[in-house]
Amino acid sequence: MKYVKLIAVSLSFMILLSACSPSSTGNEQTLESTVGEEHTIIRSASKVTNDAQTKTIITSQESFQIGTHITIKVYDDKEVPKDAFDQIFSLIDTYEYMVSKTINTSEVTEVNNNAGLSPVNVSDSVVELVEIGQKYAALSDGLFDVTIGPLVDLWGIGTEHAAVPSDEARIESMGKIDYRKIDIDKTDKTIFLQEAGMEIDLGAIAKGFIADRVKDLILELGYEHAIINLGGNVLTVGTKPNSDAWQVGVRDPQSSSGSTMGILKLEDNSIVSSGIYERFFNAGEIRYHHIINPKTGAPEFNGMYSVSIVSDTSVDGDALSTTVFLLGLEKGLALIESLPNIEAVFVMEDQSVYVSSGLGDRFILTEKSYTIKSISDQ
Ligand code: FAD
Ligand code: MG
Repeated sequence: MKYVKLIAVSLSFMILLSACSPSSTGNEQTLESTVGEEHTIIRSASKVTNDAQTKTIITSQESFQIGTHITIKVYDDKEVPKDAFDQIFSLIDTYEYMVSKTINTSEVTEVNNNAGLSPVNVSDSVVELVEIGQKYAALSDGLFDVTIGPLVDLWGIGTEHAAVPSDEARIESMGKIDYRKIDIDKTDKTIFLQEAGMEIDLGAIAKGFIADRVKDLILELGYEHAIINLGGNVLTVGTKPNSDAWQVGVRDPQSSSGSTMGILKLEDNSIVSSGIYERFFNAGEIRYHHIINPKTGAPEFNGMYSVSIVSDTSVDGDALSTTVFLLGLEKGLALIESLPNIEAVFVMEDQSVYVSSGLGDRFILTEKSYTIKSISDQ
């Protein structure tokens, strides 16, 4: 069922792609998956352009995987062969079939199905991801918690059954959330959820982790300049070939068309955003978004529209974007200032923008309805 929907979305996406990419070298392509249930990965053909600015050739392909649009753009002195993209999309597929909690055969689903029953053997990557989850949970005193699954299911945000749950159901789900009740056995490589009904959900960190693995692969394949975009998780490989920084737009959280409110200059690093605009449903006057405070059992409302994190690795950016959103402006900014090589841009409901001190002139505000402020202005 999931793939019926996914293919329908992908097809309309491909139609759009072919309509707006006159230099495509062919039509839509498919790739047979080698993992999980039998399925096909649908992606675009290569789009090849000569880039006058860097005097290189840009080869890009797009796909629809992990529930999001993916674009991989590589700069080189010749066209990147299809086989390189096959390897990249297969790698993403392998991770999706390992960590998605909506795929019946994934390792995470098996861990969840065995909650309160028995430990489950998992891959090194799942151990690593859960450990990263525990690290950010400890850092935020449990506001970030990868055992958030029961509350994510209850609210159903992003699904057809999204609705405000009853207080009883919310309180019952809250009782199942506790990252300290995940047992990781690193020797046997097993994960055990101590209580029945517990559920791991890696939605807040897996895209970042996968982006990092894609970057490793691109470097292994011998390419030094690329942009990886997993549904807004952007990770850059090197600089542009002419040594210029990449310029990545920061989404305007108030815009329904996806326009940007600022530009970040990046060199070999990642930008990941979390916000109220990504997945939500409206009930009455309220927009319920998908970042849930495990201590209230409800989406977190703290005056923040979005936060974008600049970091070296995308998994840290992904974990921190969700964590800092939950911490709110003051505590979130204090956390960012305490961490080396991590910067952030906060966009608030009252149109104010706060930028961490190490970002300097790497952030340029382009949407004039916003005003840059500092905490001392408050
Ligand atoms: P982020 O801020 O990075 O993360 C928000 C997500 O984190 C929430 O959606 C929830 O999953 C989780 N979360 C919420 N509150 C907390 C909390 N307090 N602590 C920790 N985590 C929290 N979407 C589909 O529509 N269809 C799919 O088939 C699908 N498959 C996916 C498979 C994989 C492997 C992954 C990683 C994602 C998939 N998604 C799919 C998307 C997923 O459901 C999330 O919506 C997405 O990962 C959210 O990322 P974000 O960057 O928008 O937000
Ligand atoms: Mg995140």
